[in-house]
Amino acid sequence: MYDIHHLNCGTMCPWGGRLVDGVSDGLAARLVCHCLLVETDHGLVLVDTGYGARDVAQPHPRLSRAFTALLRPRLLPEETALARIHARGYRADDVRHIVLTHLDFDHAGGIQDFPRAEVHVLDAELDAARHPRGPVATGRYRPLQWDNNVRWRTYSAHGEPWFGFPAVRELPGLPPDILLVPLAGHTVGHAGVAVRGRDRWVLHAGDAYFFREEIDPREPRCTPGLAAYQGIMDVDRDLRLANQARLRELARHHGGEVRILCAHDAVELEGRGRGIGARHAARVLEPA
Ligand SMILES: [Zn+2]
Repeated sequence: MYDIHHLNCGTMCPWGGRLVDGVSDGLAARLVCHCLLVETDHGLVLVDTGYGARDVAQPHPRLSRAFTALLRPRLLPEETALARIHARGYRADDVRHIVLTHLDFDHAGGIQDFPRAEVHVLDAELDAARHPRGPVATGRYRPLQWDNNVRWRTYSAHGEPWFGFPAVRELPGLPPDILLVPLAGHTVGHAGVAVRGRDRWVLHAGDAYFFREEIDPREPRCTPGLAAYQGIMDVDRDLRLANQARLRELARHHGGEVRILCAHDAVELEGRGRGIGARHAARVLEPA
């Protein structure tokens, strides 16, 4: 059981306001890059990395111009994982492991800021990133962010059960309380990352969904903006939707034991433990 810190490692302000994020009053929406910092006796573990210091210093050509135009990342130095970790009194070298949901530019940008870390990811994801096909793949996977000197650890997408999901529990150097939960669809080798916290599990579901209410067991819904974006980005729509359905079932049956979160929902990040799963569990436990 570990202390888990929730970090925003990149704010994005695409046009569309509440048609995208469901809450903003202005013309621009606000999305975050929700990363986890886990303090373990094996050193610090980072789950996803958001945008990195080098993306901030010189965004292009590390990032695709099409995606920066669409998502409008603010690229603030103080929001990088490196700055967040410094602000907590740690050094870059204290980060020994990075566990990635996938290799999209808004998740992989900080890898090079932590040269001592081993980087854990599903093998299908690394393979897809190294051999991109088509404009979406070449825009989303940016080898300049991770092509040199990265200590990869890759895994095939099966393993032992975890709340009904097959999960990879044996990540070398990491305890069995941090595991990869394959959730393909957004990308070929996309995975959630489950971490056992002090009071319950946290499942970082990456980009398996984008809007908090998509996994509401009772009334799932998505904003039109984020539904459209997910439709552009997914590689297997049926699989993506099937995995969202599984996440809803997880929220329905285990919302009190597992906090489920995604990468880009600002309300979820700021809610800190009041996510859909928790809300549903509260309804179940405290009938009106
Ligand atoms: Zn993303």
